[in-house]
Amino acid sequence: MNQAPPVETRGLTKRYGSVTAVENLNLTVRRGEVYGFLGPNGAGKTTTLRMLLGLVRPTAGTARVLGEEPGSAASLEGVGALVESPAFYPYLSGRDNLRMMARYAGVGRERVEEALRTVELSERAKDRFKKYSLGMKQRLGVAAALLKDPELLILDEPTNGLDPKGMADMRELIKRLGRGERTVLLSSHLLGEVEQVCDRVGVIRGGRLVAEGTVAELRERTGLLVRAEPLREAAEIARRISGVEEVEVTDGLLRLSTDPDRAAEINRKLVSAGLEVSELRPAERSLEEVFLELTGEEGTV
Ligand code: ATP
Repeated sequence: MNQAPPVETRGLTKRYGSVTAVENLNLTVRRGEVYGFLGPNGAGKTTTLRMLLGLVRPTAGTARVLGEEPGSAASLEGVGALVESPAFYPYLSGRDNLRMMARYAGVGRERVEEALRTVELSERAKDRFKKYSLGMKQRLGVAAALLKDPELLILDEPTNGLDPKGMADMRELIKRLGRGERTVLLSSHLLGEVEQVCDRVGVIRGGRLVAEGTVAELRERTGLLVRAEPLREAAEIARRISGVEEVEVTDGLLRLSTDPDRAAEINRKLVSAGLEVSELRPAERSLEEVFLELTGEEGTV
């Protein structure tokens, strides 16, 4: 098996005239993980995924997919993608649509049945495509992407437009798909989705990667919450402690931007200044707050 990272980009950039859709993107997707490419609409997700498939040529920088040039036969061999809605024939059944695609792709019919089973469409496989719900259509798209049993699966906003049940089904499917050795790269503007499904997340805003890490790392502890009396005086003193970058007063608590490991030292300083400290604990931001701060957008959960 190919040992190169499934996806690696260096300085990847795409400009359309004066619009920079993707800027200097350094992304590494690791083998076997489900990587969520998270960002608001227009952030550059689709453009990036299209570059990885060789559908769009970068203005600058490089990308390797399974160690190969994007769009080359060698890279496409191991990649399945759902980036645009695939063109299914409305009057053919789901199964017949996949059989036609399998023939083009040079894969056996048994792969069709396996893909149908994976996306849980076997029972409805004989129905015409046009009778399918949006969620089923989307799952058939995933089945099409699975025909070649790809090492790397790329899904662009796979739950877009689906109702809550369709979304939940798709999330379950993605989790299942990501369980084995396969690598999944999916884009989303939905924070909750990424949080539930992905091992690691890259947050993109205005074409730039603004954060990357596990969900836990992204919501990492960012400071200390302190309950002390008198509060105003405590805020004044905290502001003078070196290494405390910011002090905010919210809901009767001080929120200090500082390394949470300094809790004991900060406690000592406040107490020795004559303050009564009744509570001191690390502050965790919700992923919602992180997303808002990074992208300036409300994360739809
Ligand atoms: P969405 O979820 O809305 O598709 P996205 O994160 O996928 O958003 P892109 O579609 O990659 O974002 O678009 C990034 C930016 O590039 C946007 O400002 C978009 O208008 C612009 N853009 C994308 N494709 C083209 C194109 N073919 N010509 C001109 N501008 C483009």
